[in-house]
Amino acid sequence: MQLERILQSHGFGTRKACRAMIRRERVSVAGQIVDDPFADLATDGLVFSVDGTDWPFREQASLLLYKPAGYECSRKPQHHPSVLELLPLPLRERGVQPIGRLDEDTTGLLLITDDGQLNHQLSSGKRKVPKVYLATVKHALDAAQIQQLLAGVLLHDEPAPIAAAAAEIVDDHQLRLTVTEGKYHQVKRMVAAVGNRVEALHREALADLRLPADLKPGEWRWLDAEDMKQLG
Ligand code: URA
Repeated sequence: MQLERILQSHGFGTRKACRAMIRRERVSVAGQIVDDPFADLATDGLVFSVDGTDWPFREQASLLLYKPAGYECSRKPQHHPSVLELLPLPLRERGVQPIGRLDEDTTGLLLITDDGQLNHQLSSGKRKVPKVYLATVKHALDAAQIQQLLAGVLLHDEPAPIAAAAAEIVDDHQLRLTVTEGKYHQVKRMVAAVGNRVEALHREALADLRLPADLKPGEWRWLDAEDMKQLG
């Protein structure tokens, strides 16, 4: 693919702007400046560099982010910055969107993509993708609360009770809860329904894909083939 097209498809601006960047020697491949916008490059495994930052060629942009507290998942946030502001501009320019939503004060694993099919697959209620949360709660937990969560609780505006796919006490004030739906404030409402209150919420995993231990809040990385397998 021609280099200027590669840059354009990766969010670096119009073809004209990309052509100018290349001519100004801002782009290199394998350590060599390429100043020909029409250079035809094999895209398989290609990594190009713009102003010293490496970009892997990705037909679709899919990544995982460690969402910190204080960010909204919406593209048009109301009270806090959007999680998309944690990403470099070219990625945002590709039109990536969060897959599902975490509340502003929830932390943890958030997937972001411009792949409509992946987004649909993972957020569609039918797929029942397990989402694993660690919830810190106000009152000491007891076995009865866990039993109720597993048996199902009735939430306002929901026609039928919703049950956790898994629930376990981690310590007096922490529980690990797996849900397969993606209802608004679902975990907070389920925990409230059993007489407790979520004080902090962290998403640890989506299907078999866990938040990588080496990622810090606000950091992101590309999804790879192994991650896709974990997502099922
Ligand atoms: N359930 C909630 O209540 N909030 C989240 O952010 C995610 C799940």
